[in-house]
Amino acid sequence: MTLLPTSTAGSLPKPAWLAEPETLWSPWKLDDGILAEGKRDALLLALSDQQHAGIDIVSDGEQSRQHFVTTFIEHLAGVDFERRETVRIRDRYDASVPTVAGPVARKAPVFVEDAEFVRAHTNRPLKWALPGPMTMIDTLYDAHYGSREELAWEFAGILNQEAKELAAAGVDIVQFDEPAFNVFFDDVNDWGIAALERAAEGLTCETAVHVCYGYGIKANTDWKASLGSEWRQYERIFPRIRESSIDIVSLECHHSHVPMDLMELIRGKKVMVGAIDVASSTVETPEEVAETLRRALQFVDAENLYPATNCGMAPLPRGVARGKLAALTAGAAIVRSELGG
Ligand SMILES: [Zn+2]
Repeated sequence: MTLLPTSTAGSLPKPAWLAEPETLWSPWKLDDGILAEGKRDALLLALSDQQHAGIDIVSDGEQSRQHFVTTFIEHLAGVDFERRETVRIRDRYDASVPTVAGPVARKAPVFVEDAEFVRAHTNRPLKWALPGPMTMIDTLYDAHYGSREELAWEFAGILNQEAKELAAAGVDIVQFDEPAFNVFFDDVNDWGIAALERAAEGLTCETAVHVCYGYGIKANTDWKASLGSEWRQYERIFPRIRESSIDIVSLECHHSHVPMDLMELIRGKKVMVGAIDVASSTVETPEEVAETLRRALQFVDAENLYPATNCGMAPLPRGVARGKLAALTAGAAIVRSELGG
């Protein structure tokens, strides 16, 4: 693969004919009869936007899911979406969530057909995001297991089934999204990373974990404003992640208060360095992207540095997201040429 291969954290905005723009959990605009076809058209558009912008490792843009956690859970047995409880998500904001009412199980593959479809339309390396076990349990009310750890292990087994089928469908990198890793540090080290390794066990493709400070929604930006001038959350989890079997760590850097030297703690891992701010509609200049990558190069070996976005771009206007994809490519190209690549 090329030096400094670019990718996104995963999600891209959906077309306005498919779902209300700039909204999380936005309901589908198409009727059941044509929704599946609409989602596929959107997958092709997201792929086209990425390829046109020169993104090296493409994704599905999460066009066929309403939300990065709930859509996967909707396909599982044992979760009652009619029975809702209000819980505090990420220890930060209240949300009405479905209830785990019985043993959880995967009834059928969730994203495997979509992955086969996208794979058939591109030769580029393909990355596919799934929610991580800890973030899944943090988005649910549990009335059955009575133990966060036990439920996480159940979800890890289910995720492992899905991930293996995604790899068989030609996915090159399965990424687990674990924003909850930035909040529940003791649980992360006690069982969170072990559960993640269980989800990734025996995979023939590469594996990544995405740990971020969230989408650019108000609850997250208010939380970030309370974190002070240095965000040292990664310091609590990186030592254990470095020892783990996960190949790639995807993290937030650009416009954030994460001290860059924390990346030293995962030296040896591949690092997807967030060089695009998803909480701002201002499109970065290529030089701004390049400067973030240059600073990261002090702590990440060039062959392990993967320029990326801080998080998903689902809530942004489409034109802004396209601009940011192009800026990412151009910024990476500047640093690549400086490295003589
Ligand atoms: Zn994220």
